[in-house]
Amino acid sequence: MDDTVRLKQTMLNVTQQLIAGCRFCVQISQDPDDKTPVHCVKYSGCAIPVLVNAATCLSCQEYKRSGKRPERPDAAAGS
Ligand code: SF4
Repeated sequence: MDDTVRLKQTMLNVTQQLIAGCRFCVQISQDPDDKTPVHCVKYSGCAIPVLVNAATCLSCQEYKRSGKRPERPDAAAGS
């Protein structure tokens, strides 16, 4: 794996960790080359998600307010 692919995969992993708590996020692509990996229903206003990039999530910051539990609560506890 070259450095570019590794960096893209790291960025995707960080995005997944960050947005895992957002109740509007229904799916995150596993493809590191996907420029809009986040499937979000906040901006669609219905059950069909729109595709957004990580920068949109960072500016939206809904993941900070959302009540959805993280997939791995033990990770949040640091164990
Ligand atoms: S854009 Fe906002 S509401 Fe949508 S998944 Fe990202 S943080 Fe959540």
